[in-house]
Amino acid sequence: MRKMQITSTILNKLSYLIDLVFPSHCPVCVKRSDNHSISPLCSSCWAKIERHNGRGCRICASVTDYDSTGVCQECRAIKPVFDRVITFGIYNGALKQTIHLMKFRRLRRLANVLGKEMSLMDIPNADVIMPVPLSNDGLRGREFNQSAVMAKVVSKETGIPLDISSLKKTKETLPQSMLQKRERIMNVKGAFEVDKDLSGKRVILVDDVITTSATVNECARALKKAGAEMVTVLTAARSKSD
Ligand SMILES: [Zn+2]
Ligand SMILES: [Zn+2]
Repeated sequence: MRKMQITSTILNKLSYLIDLVFPSHCPVCVKRSDNHSISPLCSSCWAKIERHNGRGCRICASVTDYDSTGVCQECRAIKPVFDRVITFGIYNGALKQTIHLMKFRRLRRLANVLGKEMSLMDIPNADVIMPVPLSNDGLRGREFNQSAVMAKVVSKETGIPLDISSLKKTKETLPQSMLQKRERIMNVKGAFEVDKDLSGKRVILVDDVITTSATVNECARALKKAGAEMVTVLTAARSKSD
């Protein structure tokens, strides 16, 4: 575990140096970026991002399997604890690469750009913005919570106050990407706590990407237990299938 952390620290430092030396290259296709002042991504990669078109399950934003009432099979079977998911794009192609780069190469500029796009979405009135937290181990290993960076940008752009410390991850979990859907639900069960009274508060919960929505649902459970009246999940990307 420690060896992995050292390796990831070296990789992070290396990619930081590469970015210093080659500041104007698109991090996705590595060609020279043509709109560097607006986005680290070149216009060709940016154009390839598949935006969520607003059609899909009106609760979880899934683009598959939703019926005429606008609710998907999953949400009909078990109603999520969160009220609604708003997502910028679909988790594939250039956006998937962007999110991977942001996570593993700590490309803060990408988180800033995505945060700005997310703040332009149809966000409901809310009292507070909170990011999905990393565990203490995650923070030590990567030292970069991209959801927190995006939440900060959304807060700045919308004026909704930011709270990055009240929602905490209190249990170590396995990476969700390693697990099947049912295991993912069990993996994050009881993993989050809120140490603040949120009675009557409307919360915007920010995450980088959602797949099965098990993590954001468990965060929403902790937020509602603390009194939150509404939890809207705002995410940069949503996977096409559950
Ligand atoms: Zn590119
Ligand atoms: Zn749904």
